[in-house]
Amino acid sequence: MQSRAQSDPHWYQPTGLSEAFSIYKANLNSTVKFVNGNTGKGVFKETGDVNIYIELNSVKELYFMQVHDTYISIGAGISINGLIDILLSNKDKSISFKPLADHLKKIANVPVRNIGTWAGNLMLTHNNDNFPSDVFTIMKAAGATLSIAHDGGTGEYPLSDFLSLDMTERIIVSIQIPYCSPNTVFTTFKIMPRSQ
Ligand SMILES: Cc1cc2nc3c(=O)[nH]c(=O)nc-3n(C[C@H](O)[C@H](O)[C@H](O)COP(=O)(O)OP(=O)(O)OC[C@H]3O[C@@H](n4cnc5c(N)ncnc54)[C@H](O)[C@@H]3O)c2cc1C
Repeated sequence: MQSRAQSDPHWYQPTGLSEAFSIYKANLNSTVKFVNGNTGKGVFKETGDVNIYIELNSVKELYFMQVHDTYISIGAGISINGLIDILLSNKDKSISFKPLADHLKKIANVPVRNIGTWAGNLMLTHNNDNFPSDVFTIMKAAGATLSIAHDGGTGEYPLSDFLSLDMTERIIVSIQIPYCSPNTVFTTFKIMPRSQ
């Protein structure tokens, strides 16, 4: 475990899920926050004092991509731009992958998409009713499910159940995106201001 002690707060950088949960449990008397790209701070100012940050950037279980017979599975440490690349390089697998990637390209800007993760985006909408998450909207339409870890196991949840799930002491591990049949029409829309 590496820890970067500052005056206050403390930052930890675990390299595995079990280590991340151990740090969490050892600090139950403090306000603990998981972070990955930490770009969420640009959308919602932090309320209250966070004493302990647990960076998930080095947690190895969150960085993978697996192609299965009926779905693709992508780790929660993958950035939004990383997700776009994966979808485009597998676009022959599902009619939905190119429209999903094209929609993801409309999120924020290149620097934010390079370090901001799709999982962090989902957590912003989980924690804030008023956040219109593009990732949530399009992945729900695609019928995606999430693998979410707690200390001692992992559960599988459809995105429709995610918003009401108690995420205390839980870490999103991956998203599973099923393949659409070629007969399906899959389109997404985003209404946004643009400069003229
Ligand atoms: C300028 C700007 C423009 C943006 N525009 C858009 C937009 O147009 N559309 C849109 O949908 N979004 C937009 N966003 C949001 C952006 O997509 C998110 O900020 C980003 O995806 C968050 O990812 P992160 O890794 O930085 O999360 P962090 O900031 O590190 O974390 C955000 C939250 O997620 C939690 N978290 C992170 N990873 C995990 C995990 N694996 N398990 C459990 N909890 C976790 C953290 O505890 C925290 O609560 C914008 C953001 C910025 C700064």
